[in-house]
Amino acid sequence: MYICINCGTECKELFRRYCPSVLKILKCEKCGLLADKYIEYDPVIVFVDLILIEKPAYRHLLYNSNFKSYWKISIILWLAESFRAWSLCDINETELTASKVDLIQNNGLQDYCNIYNLLLHTALAFAAFICTIIVVTELKWFIIGKKPYKYSVKDLSCALIVGGCGKLLGLLGIVWQHIASGPYYLLIQGYTVLCLLTAYSVICKSGRGESLIGLIAGFLLYGYICI
Ligand SMILES: [Zn+2]
Repeated sequence: MYICINCGTECKELFRRYCPSVLKILKCEKCGLLADKYIEYDPVIVFVDLILIEKPAYRHLLYNSNFKSYWKISIILWLAESFRAWSLCDINETELTASKVDLIQNNGLQDYCNIYNLLLHTALAFAAFICTIIVVTELKWFIIGKKPYKYSVKDLSCALIVGGCGKLLGLLGIVWQHIASGPYYLLIQGYTVLCLLTAYSVICKSGRGESLIGLIAGFLLYGYICI
C-alpha cells in the first residue's frame, strides 16, 4: 500500500501504465492532487526537496520509493560522526599540549580520543537515541491512542536515519575547522533537528510540536552520552 505525498492518505496504486511508454499518475481520492508527482521526477530533484525539508519528498522516500539502503546511510552517519569527533579531539589535544596543562587531563583526553573508543561511543549514542524515541513513541500511543494505521517501528527507525543525515554537514568542519564548533555547528544541529522533526511527523502523522515532544527524550539522552 502506498500513500499520497500531499495528505498522507493511503492509495492502492500511484500510477497506471497503459503501454511501456505511457504512464499516468493517479490523483488522490481525498485531496484531488497527484498522488505522487515524484514518480516522474529525476532522483536529483527528490534529493534537492529532501534537503529543503519538504514533507512530500520525505513521504515519497519513506513509503513510495524502492529505496532500501538505510543501513548503508546509518554506517556512513556512524563513521562520519565518529570521524568528526576524532578530528575535534585532535584540535583539543594540540591546544592542550601547546598550553602544557597537567598530564592527567592530557592522558584522559588521549584515552577518550582513541578512534575505537569514539566509534563505540558514537554507536552507543545513536542506538540510545533511536531506542529512546521508539520507546517514548510507543508510550505515547499507549497513553493517548490514535496510532496511525501505517505506523511501524521499522519505518520510524528508517525516518530517524534519513532525518539524521543533516549531521553529515558536520563533515565540513574537517575541511573548514572553524565550522566544527561554536555557532556554526549549532546551525548544523538546528538543521538536523528540523529534518528529524519532519521525518518523525511523516511517520507519526503529528504536528511539529507533538513531534518535538516525541523526540526530546532522544535528544537529551544523545546529548548526555556525547558530552
Ligand atoms: Zn492526498
